Amino acid sequence: MNQMIIDGQKIDAANQQTLDVINPTTGQVFTTIPRGGAEDVDRAVKAARKALKGDWGKVPAFERGRLLMKLSRAVMDHQEELAQIEARDTGKPLSTARNDIAVLSRYFEFYAGGADKLHGDTIPFLNGYSVQTVHEPLGVTAHIIPWNYPAQMFGRSVAPALAMGNAAVVKPAEDACLSILRVAELALEVGFPAGALNIVTGLGEEAGAALSRHPGINFISFTGSNEVGVLIQQAAALNAVKCVLELGGKSAHVVFDDVNIDLAVPAIVRGIVHNTGQTCTAGSRLLLQKGVYDRFMQALADEFAKTRAGTPEMDLTCGPVINRKQMERVNRFIEKGRQEGLKVVAEGAVAEGVPAEGFFVTPTLFAAERHESELLCQEIFGPVLVVVPFETEAEAIELANATDYGLMGAVWTENGGRQQRVARSMEAGQVYINSFGAGGGVELPFGGVKRSGHGREKGFIALEEMSTIKTIVHHHGA
Ligand code: ADP
Repeated sequence: MNQMIIDGQKIDAANQQTLDVINPTTGQVFTTIPRGGAEDVDRAVKAARKALKGDWGKVPAFERGRLLMKLSRAVMDHQEELAQIEARDTGKPLSTARNDIAVLSRYFEFYAGGADKLHGDTIPFLNGYSVQTVHEPLGVTAHIIPWNYPAQMFGRSVAPALAMGNAAVVKPAEDACLSILRVAELALEVGFPAGALNIVTGLGEEAGAALSRHPGINFISFTGSNEVGVLIQQAAALNAVKCVLELGGKSAHVVFDDVNIDLAVPAIVRGIVHNTGQTCTAGSRLLLQKGVYDRFMQALADEFAKTRAGTPEMDLTCGPVINRKQMERVNRFIEKGRQEGLKVVAEGAVAEGVPAEGFFVTPTLFAAERHESELLCQEIFGPVLVVVPFETEAEAIELANATDYGLMGAVWTENGGRQQRVARSMEAGQVYINSFGAGGGVELPFGGVKRSGHGREKGFIALEEMSTIKTIVHHHGA
């Protein structure tokens, strides 16, 4: 039995309704969360507005930074507790959950340091004028968070918003929101004023929709599916507010004949199996040059076959997927791949002894002859990798970009010119050369092009996204 946090208070939903929370490892209900709705969202938005006009709006930038730093430390002081909560809620291996909590802490730390460092300009203008720009908070920021990395996504979205002096209303995912509720309690304990950070739990189509359409918000940050992203952008249009959308991907590795196999293989396997493939940036397509195809495929298959899905306590490669719907979806894609005649090159395994009702899927490595399968177009959000051969650099670039998405990519080659050419040609918000994903990437501007969305999170640029510029023109005479 959990409660929401609105205006500094732990409360139930106004309608007293609750939602069951299922442990993906066991398939069993283990607790409930309030089923918040429009009334709760309205209270939260009003509380946030009140905070902006009251205590929170008066906190100077460096003090906001200090509060965020205190929260960063509190998160690490509670790392094990939070990791246990996250692992039970999402099914991820405990070491992954611990790392996610460390990255959450890092977000608060990074933006604590940035809170008082986004300076305005003075702009040369007409004689007799002085012009300055000031970064101001947007106001009430809405944050709709997905279930794959609840703690990390919360930090990524909310930390820069609070650093810039916004008041946040967060709608975490109904499938996994418990770590976020606990961190919001810690925020109150370290001294964030009531209303600066509000959490409304509930369903996407109820609490989420109400939040995204609320006339009292000034900004929406959304990470989730493409379909819902379109709804969010429409809702943002209703109130003419800005939104940042991160809508997933179909990221490609491009592996050339001169690849360092020992470096690439573990990174590529990890890049699709980590978090059971439920990562927007998962490297789910592998374009492999023909000269190295057999050698690389052998090493890849050997590594892939070692992957194991297990319970959080077993702490293996990955855990279950989040819910039954997702399990069925991933299995449907695997079945579809077989029907289409893709070759299963390797499979990981579900560890013995996992609960029979858990949402476990088998990591699967496919080989396709051409870049044509549905598995190469759709975001599966599961541990499924498809390999496609290519001959020339030009062909590789064309295939890498043959997707509606554009979130991330990687190029694996020792040739410096080729590294740069391919990286520059890939239609993606982030491209890695001889690596893939790194340490949470808190410092690195992140976001998509094409259907992966727009706007940038992470890095210093998020402070600009979370604020607006006022230009002050002062005519004082020459
Ligand atoms: P998935 O399909 O992977 O669960 P979603 O895009 O549905 O991803 O969910 C991401 C977040 O968006 C969750 O917090 C969810 O509750 C929320 N959400 C889902 N539908 C809506 C909606 N119609 N309006 C606003 N938020 C929504």
